[in-house]
Amino acid sequence: MTCAHITDHLSEWVDGELATEVAHAVDTHLATCASCQARAHSMRALKHAIARLPSRESPPGAVQARLEALRFQQSRRRANVAAWLMGAGAAVVIGVVALYVKGAAHPPSRQFLEDLVADHLRSVPESMPAEVASDSPVVVSRFFLERVPFQPLAPLMPEARLLGGRLCRLNGERSQLLFYAAEGQTLSLFISRAGSFEAARCDAVRDYYVCGRRSGELTLMLVGALPAETLQRLLSKAVL
Ligand SMILES: [Zn+2]
Repeated sequence: MTCAHITDHLSEWVDGELATEVAHAVDTHLATCASCQARAHSMRALKHAIARLPSRESPPGAVQARLEALRFQQSRRRANVAAWLMGAGAAVVIGVVALYVKGAAHPPSRQFLEDLVADHLRSVPESMPAEVASDSPVVVSRFFLERVPFQPLAPLMPEARLLGGRLCRLNGERSQLLFYAAEGQTLSLFISRAGSFEAARCDAVRDYYVCGRRSGELTLMLVGALPAETLQRLLSKAVL
C-alpha cells in the first residue's frame, strides 16, 4: 500500500472499522512510515478532541471545517483512483446533476466544480481567517481593487450576510472569493473571469451545490451545503 492508500483508510483505521486484512496492511505500513504515523496521530487527536466536546452534534466551526475538508479530500482521492482504475472512458464517478441547463455550450468540468468545493471548504472563515472581514460591500470591494483584473463586486443577497473575502485563483485567474452567512451556513461566492457557466445552472458535487450565473465578462459561482433552489434564488436576487 502506498501512503495515499493509507491516508484514505486512516479514519476507519483509527475507528477500528477496517476489515482485518486491510487493518493489517495499514499496521504494517505504519510500522515503517513516519509520515503516515504522524497523520494517524493527528487524526486520532482530532477525533478525541471532537469526542470531548460537550455537544457531539456541533463541533466548533474550525474543527468541523477541517474534518469536512479532510473527508472531501479523501473521497476525492478515492474517486480519482477509481477513475484511473476504470479508465478515462468510465470516469463517471462524481454525481454531477445539471439542474438548469439551458443550452450551455461548455458546461463547467467536474474537476473545476470539485476544485470550487475544495476551495470553499479550505477557505471559509471557519477554516482560515478571511483577508478582509466586513459586512460592508464598500470595504470588501475596496480590498479587491487592484488585486483582481476587473472591477470588483460585493453583491448584496437577500437573507444572506456578507462576512468578508479573500483573493483566490481560478484557472490561474486572480478572482474574488466572498463569504456569506445564510441559514446557519457559510457560503462561498467566487467571482471570476474564469468559469464556464454560459447559463444559470446548479451542479451537485456530493453534499454541496455549485450554482453559477454570468454577469457580463464575469461568472458568479455560489457554493454551499444549502439546497440548489436556495442557492439559485440567492444568486438570482443578488444585487450587483
Ligand atoms: Zn506512508
